[in-house]
Amino acid sequence: MRGRELRGELDAFLAETEQDLVAFRRDLHMHPELAFAEYRTTQRIAERLTAAGLKPSVLPKGSGLICDVGSGDGPTIALRADIDALPLQDEKDVPYRSTVAGACHACGHDVHTTVLLGTSLFLAQQAAAGLLPGRVRLIFQPAEELPGGALEVMAHGGISGVDRIFGLHCDPRVDAGQLGIRTGPITSACDKIAVRVSGPGGHTARPHLTADLVFALAKILTELPAALSRRVDPRSSLSLVWGKVVAGSAANAIPDDGVAEGTVRCLDEDAWHAAPDLIKSLLESVAGAYGVEATLDYTRGVPPVVNDELSVEMMSAAAEQALGSGAVVPTQQSLGGEDFGWYLESIPGAFARLGTRSPGGVTYDIHQGTFDVDEKAIAAGVRVMATTALTSLWEVGPIDSITNAMA
Ligand SMILES: [Zn+2]
Ligand SMILES: [Zn+2]
Repeated sequence: MRGRELRGELDAFLAETEQDLVAFRRDLHMHPELAFAEYRTTQRIAERLTAAGLKPSVLPKGSGLICDVGSGDGPTIALRADIDALPLQDEKDVPYRSTVAGACHACGHDVHTTVLLGTSLFLAQQAAAGLLPGRVRLIFQPAEELPGGALEVMAHGGISGVDRIFGLHCDPRVDAGQLGIRTGPITSACDKIAVRVSGPGGHTARPHLTADLVFALAKILTELPAALSRRVDPRSSLSLVWGKVVAGSAANAIPDDGVAEGTVRCLDEDAWHAAPDLIKSLLESVAGAYGVEATLDYTRGVPPVVNDELSVEMMSAAAEQALGSGAVVPTQQSLGGEDFGWYLESIPGAFARLGTRSPGGVTYDIHQGTFDVDEKAIAAGVRVMATTALTSLWEVGPIDSITNAMA
């Protein structure tokens, strides 16, 4: 069965199920649910998996589920889809427009969910026919947009025993029927910081008798980003940009506290790991020079998604086989964040961009109320995910060979 030509089998499967999958996507699109409230979505997925003879396991909070196809001693490949919608208004005039005010599948997670459902149904058929040489773990992850869903999945053993993980995201800049992929980082890290400064306060006539807190805060606002640009490799593009500053209430009074909040974005994983300690030490030295106390509240968002080279080769080869030669196109690292990065901190894998633009058509960007997809992307996504799962199970081989390769 190794090296079997899957294209004909997928043609036959999709001839029967593509319309049904499109209908499933439209139903999700009409009933979007926000992060950690994807109860209906989870139930709809669970019903379909159960009807296909699978045994989904809903996560404890009731949103998101995990389901294994196949069993035995073979390797385990995970496929992940995120299932949550965004808190914004659907501005499209289509029959499947969102029926929920202020909620919209504007990031295409309804498509990711449907692609993984279609892939699950195909893999269930393969398993029933004895053609699955290992296990595929299906991860329908809640709350990507919050973020936090990937950590929720991992906290409940979602990737324990998994050898490799693959995921997709809609990309309206790539034509439907194509897949964009790159080795190394494909998205960026994004964290939040809050700096609080405090001092004795006093009269603006006598700054030398107190600590001039507003002046010190202004120094922190300019010195921290400036120092970072000289302390971190410029190729990592670590950037600290402030979005909020609050201090003081009167023109002639030095306040006793102030706050500044901003985001830290970064293309590079090593720089991301080092950022909190570096920012803290820079902050302390600037604040100390002006006699104010400063504290740093650093909130980790998501790490960059860093694609493993071998996984990218596997997924690219699978996509070429599934979609035809020339269907795999290069893509760039984006400054957006994606919590798939948390999985790749623990296990190897690859994350690719699924083309959703009608060839020659208009590009509607994600996170806009007008975003929509060419629904041909659903069948293309199923072809890519199913072929990736099966060919990587063939490639990884029995568990003995993985142990040997890692030794
Ligand atoms: Zn998004
Ligand atoms: Zn998204």
